Amino acid sequence: MNVHEYQAKELLKSYGIPVPVGEVAYSDKGAARVAEDIGGTRWVVKAQVHAGGRGKAGGVRIASTLPQLRELTDAMIGSRLVTEQTGAEGQLVQRVLIERACRIDRELYLGLTIDRATQRITVIASAEGGVDVEEVAREHPERIHTEVVDPATGLLDFQCRKLAMAIGLQHRMSPFVKLVKRLYRLFRDKDAVLLEINPLVETEDGDLLALDCKLAFDDNALFRQGDVAELRDFDEEDPKEVEAYGHGLNYIALDGQVGCIVNGAGLAMATMDAIVLHGARPANFLDVGGGAGPEKVANAFRIVLEDPNVRVILVNIFAGINRCDWIAEGVVRATRSQEIEAPIVVRLAGTNVDEGRRILRESGLELVIAEDLDDGARKAVAALRAVEAGYDAVPQGVRT
Ligand code: GDP
Ligand code: MN
Repeated sequence: MNVHEYQAKELLKSYGIPVPVGEVAYSDKGAARVAEDIGGTRWVVKAQVHAGGRGKAGGVRIASTLPQLRELTDAMIGSRLVTEQTGAEGQLVQRVLIERACRIDRELYLGLTIDRATQRITVIASAEGGVDVEEVAREHPERIHTEVVDPATGLLDFQCRKLAMAIGLQHRMSPFVKLVKRLYRLFRDKDAVLLEINPLVETEDGDLLALDCKLAFDDNALFRQGDVAELRDFDEEDPKEVEAYGHGLNYIALDGQVGCIVNGAGLAMATMDAIVLHGARPANFLDVGGGAGPEKVANAFRIVLEDPNVRVILVNIFAGINRCDWIAEGVVRATRSQEIEAPIVVRLAGTNVDEGRRILRESGLELVIAEDLDDGARKAVAALRAVEAGYDAVPQGVRT
C-alpha cells in the first residue's frame, strides 16, 4: 500500500525527521491560506498522486507570489498528471502539497527497502539524487552505496557513518546519522517495504531536509497497523483491485488477455508462467483464497471480466481447503448471471473433484475442460488464438 507524499511527510515529522514546512490543500483558496500560514516568499506546489516523476512532468512548480500560487494550484487540481510512472491516461490530481521553497545546495538520494536476496533491510544512498537517480543507478551503479542491516543488531552508527562518507556528508555526520536511524525506526515500526527520500537535500543554510518521500507498506501487515491503513487512498488504485480487496480476493491487474481465476498465490504465479510459456500473457493475477464459496467465485468472474482486454478465462483450482463443487457452482452461477462471451477453460483437481466435474457437465455450458496446469494453459492459449482468428466459438480441437 502506498501513501501520498504529504502523508509520508507527516509520519517523517512524527519521527523527528526534518521536512520542509508545508500543508496539503484542496483548492486555490486553500493553497493561498496555507502559504500565508507558513509564511515565506516562495512556495512549491506539488501534485499529490501515487506516482513519481512529477518534477519532469510539471507536477512540481515554484510560485513567488500568492496570485501565481493560486494560478498554479488551480491548473493542477482537476488535471490528469502524466508522468513516466503513470501510464498514458495519467492520474487525477485532487490535492496539492504547499511547501515553503528551500534553497538547495545539493540533492542526495537515501532509501530503505527489504532486499530480497539477503532478506534484510538495506539502506541505499547516493550523492547523485534528484530526478535522474534511475539513470545514475543504470549507468554508474558504483555511485550507489548500500548497507545491509543485521536484524540481530539493528542499524549501527558506523554503517550510517560509512554512508555519510560515501556521499560526501562527513561534515554533517551527526545530523545524518540521526536522520538515517530515525528512518530505520519508522521503517521497522510501521512495517514499511520501501521508504525513499529523493532528494534528501543539503540546503544553502547547511540543513538536511527530506524534500520528497515515497513510502510503501506491507499489505499483509496492515491488520496490525491501523493508523497506517487509514491513510489508504482508494482513488489512487485500480478500481478492480479495490473491489477485489472488498470481496477478500487478491487481484492484481496486468496487461495480457488471459483472465486467470486461481486458488493459492503459488498456483496463481505458476499459472501465469504457464500461460507465458505457451505464448500468451495473463490479464491478471487472482488468488481466490482458501474456502472460496460460489459467491466469491462469481465475484471473481465479474472482476476479471471488467477488464476489457480479457478474451479468454482460465479457471485453475487445486482444491485442498477449497471444494471443487463450490468452485464449479460459482462458475455456473457467474455464467448464468452475466453474458460471458470469452471461452472458459476449467481445470479442477482435489477435494470433491468428481462432484465439481458433474456440475460443470450437467450445466450445459460450453466449457473447455483441462486435465492439469499445463493442459489448461495450452488450451487457454489455443482458445485465445481461435478468438483472435475470429471464430465465434471454441474450435473442436480444444474442446474436450
Ligand atoms: P518527483 O519528481 O515526483 O520525485 O518530485 P520531487 O518532490 O522529488 O521534486 C522534483 C524536483 O523539484 C526536486 O528534485 C527539486 O529539484 C525540485 N524541488 C522540489 N522542492 C523544491 C524546493 O523547495 N526548492 C527548489 N529549489 N527546488 C525544489
Ligand atoms: Mn522525488
